[in-house]
Amino acid sequence: MEDAFGHRISYLRVSVTDRCNERCRYCMPEEEQAWFPKEEVLSYEEMLRVLRVGASLGIQKVRVTGGEPLTRPGVADFCAQIAVLPGIRQLGISTNGTLLSREEQGMTQAARLYQAGVRSMNISLDSLDRASYHRTTSRDLLPKVLEGIDAALEAGFQNLRLNCVLMKNQTEREFMPLLRFAAEKRALLRFIELMPVSTREVLDERNFLSTEAARLMIEQHTGPLIPLPDFRTNGPAAYWQVPATGQKIGFIGAITNLHFCESCDKLRLTSDGKLRPCLGSFLEFDLRTPLRAGCSDAELAQLIRDVVARKPKEHDFRQNYQPNRRMIAIGG
Ligand code: SAM
Ligand code: SF4
Repeated sequence: MEDAFGHRISYLRVSVTDRCNERCRYCMPEEEQAWFPKEEVLSYEEMLRVLRVGASLGIQKVRVTGGEPLTRPGVADFCAQIAVLPGIRQLGISTNGTLLSREEQGMTQAARLYQAGVRSMNISLDSLDRASYHRTTSRDLLPKVLEGIDAALEAGFQNLRLNCVLMKNQTEREFMPLLRFAAEKRALLRFIELMPVSTREVLDERNFLSTEAARLMIEQHTGPLIPLPDFRTNGPAAYWQVPATGQKIGFIGAITNLHFCESCDKLRLTSDGKLRPCLGSFLEFDLRTPLRAGCSDAELAQLIRDVVARKPKEHDFRQNYQPNRRMIAIGG
């Protein structure tokens, strides 16, 4: 599938829940607790149907996300069903890591996900300092995340990606501990610019730290980083390398990188059944109503094509964008 601006669409992010066991300041502030009612959330069967039809249209990569996907029971079995869909070549998950070490049926959640065919894992990690992690996420769960990272490594996951959202006057002191930790765990560390996808107060200019500023601060410790324009993972991160150690660091500059949207190949399915062609746009199209009204696969395929045709050239984050949904209700 190709949109009007030449983006080739091959990637679907599926949010299985808008619920979470953390309350990150930039995503899900404590005071907002409006979950989707259960009946509005797509069943796994409904999601699999969208994925199967999507795969027939060229979707090859899937990432399961949320909210916190591991708070929804049965997510590993859901992943196992995605992995065997014809056409799906890559399956990943984004998680806060807090539940990865939890055992179920004698296996950790991480091992169950690996066994299900998940091979790429993004774990959010904003700080290695317990108090600071607690402040950012409103939960004292850093030890669980660290256990979870080890469980993922033990399960066989390679090249874990550790994602840190850049917050001014906060992330600066995390750079070097995070770099050292990522090197020790052979993980790819990525810094993400704060996006206006939550409540406005947190997304204030005063909290914004650009990827460029972050890189310059890191360089004060490591010496100049070397750009790696040809190294890409599945997303828009730009990678740089620490010359002395070879460690790669990713920078996701959704706001300051004006080329950010050029290589976008994604659609997002929200847990309440809306298909969104862009994270930073109000556009969303309801699939739940037609799915529940008994639409045919051909009709569903046409709806998906219509959404692709309306994918915007780029996000609206620079246009004083005010979100109509919180990040947690979209799926990061
Ligand atoms: N709960 C999982 C997690 O934390 O990784 C998956 C969902 S979370 C919404 C996905 C990603 O979105 C995380 O890496 C998180 O840091 C990022 N995110 C959330 N709110 C953000 C914001 N306002 N700006 C930039 N990234 C954000
Ligand atoms: Fe939950 Fe992830 Fe959002 Fe944090 S970033 S509140 S862990 S969904």
